[in-house]
Amino acid sequence: MVAKRDYYEILELEKDATEQEIKKSFRKLARKYHPDKNPDNPEAEKKFKEMQEAYAILSNPEERRKYDMFGHNRPDGSPFGPGGFQGVNISFDEIFGGGFDSIFSQFFGSSQKRNTSGSDLLYHHSVPFITAMNGSDEEIEIDVDKKCISCDGNGSSSIDGSRICPSCDGRGQIEKISMIGPFTQRSRQECPSCIGSGRIITNPCVDCNGNGRLNQRVKVKFSIQPGINSGTRLRLKGQGEAPKRNQGRNGDLFVEIDVEQHKWFERDGADLIMALPLSFTDLALGKKITIPHIDGKKLAISIPANSKPGETITISSRGLPVPMNNSVRGSVVIVLKLEMPNKFSNTMRKKLKLISKDLDSELSSIENRLEEESKRRRAN
Ligand SMILES: [Zn+2]
Ligand SMILES: [Zn+2]
Repeated sequence: MVAKRDYYEILELEKDATEQEIKKSFRKLARKYHPDKNPDNPEAEKKFKEMQEAYAILSNPEERRKYDMFGHNRPDGSPFGPGGFQGVNISFDEIFGGGFDSIFSQFFGSSQKRNTSGSDLLYHHSVPFITAMNGSDEEIEIDVDKKCISCDGNGSSSIDGSRICPSCDGRGQIEKISMIGPFTQRSRQECPSCIGSGRIITNPCVDCNGNGRLNQRVKVKFSIQPGINSGTRLRLKGQGEAPKRNQGRNGDLFVEIDVEQHKWFERDGADLIMALPLSFTDLALGKKITIPHIDGKKLAISIPANSKPGETITISSRGLPVPMNNSVRGSVVIVLKLEMPNKFSNTMRKKLKLISKDLDSELSSIENRLEEESKRRRAN
C-alpha cells in the first residue's frame, strides 16, 4: 500500500501556514487540477480529490490540531468515517468566488444547504492572431445539460405526476448524523430520493427520465474585444449546466480564449516585438523595408545607416489595441539582427578582401576592442 501523503505537502505549505495561505494555495491548485480543466485525466482527478481532503482538514482548526498531533494515524479513526474521504463537486464558480468554504464546513457538522444549482462549465476556444487586432463575433457549439423542454424542467410528464417525497417529507433535505471521533455531528444533506426537490416523480418525463434536463447541442454566441490576451476567461452567465428538476439556477459557461501565435510577432501586452534579420551591408548602409502588417496597411521600417545588431527600432501606435481603450494602440518594436550568408562565392570573397583592410582601420586595436566589449557587457 502506498503511504498517504502529508497534507501540508499536498497543498505545498509550511507547517505554520496561516488560514489565508491555506486558502490561497488550495485555490491555486484547485484551478490547476479541476476536472473541468483536465477532462479524462485520472491523475489530475486523483490530485484534485487528494487536495480536497487535505483542505477539509487543514482549513478546520480543530481537525488541523488533531492532524498536527497524530498525523494520519488518529486514535479515533478517519475523520471522514469508515469509508474515508469521498470527494466533493466544486464548480469553478465556487473556486473563483470562495464559496467552496461552505462545502467543506459541511463535513464537520455545519448545516448549510447544499448548492443544487447546475454546474459551471469551462470551454477552450482558439482564435487566430488577427482577432487580437480586430476583435470578432464568435459562435461555438457545445454539448450541455439543458432544461428539458418536454417537461419544462420539472421531470414529470403531467402536472399531477408527482407526490411528496416520503424520505424527507417534502423538505428536500435529510439530516445525517455522523460520528467525528467521540462527537456526534448533525449535518443536513440534499435528499437523494428526490434530488432536493421534495417531490417524487410518479410519472417521469420520457425524454429526460425525470431528471428535468437533457444533454443537448447548443449554439453559443459571444464577442471578443480587440486586444484580447491568451488565457482570458469570458463568463457567460447562466449558459452552463441547467439544475436538476429546476432546483436552483443555471451554472455559468466560462470560455477560455487561446490566441494563436503570429508568424513573426511576439506579444508584450499591446506591444508587438519582432526580430529583423539583415545583411551586414544593410546594417552598415541603412535600408528602407516595407512588410505587410496586421492592421491592413504596410509597415515601413527605416533602418538608419551604421546600425548595430541588437539595436531596436520602435514604431509607435502600430501595435495591438489596448483592451478597454481600443483607440490607443501599442508599439511595434523591431530588434535588428545580423544574418550571415551560408556560403560566399569566390567573387564575393575577393570583394570582401578588398574592403577588409579598410574596415580594420576603422576599428581600434584588438586589445582596446576586448576591453570596451567587456566593459559594456559588465555594465549590464
Ligand atoms: Zn423532461
Ligand atoms: Zn426527498
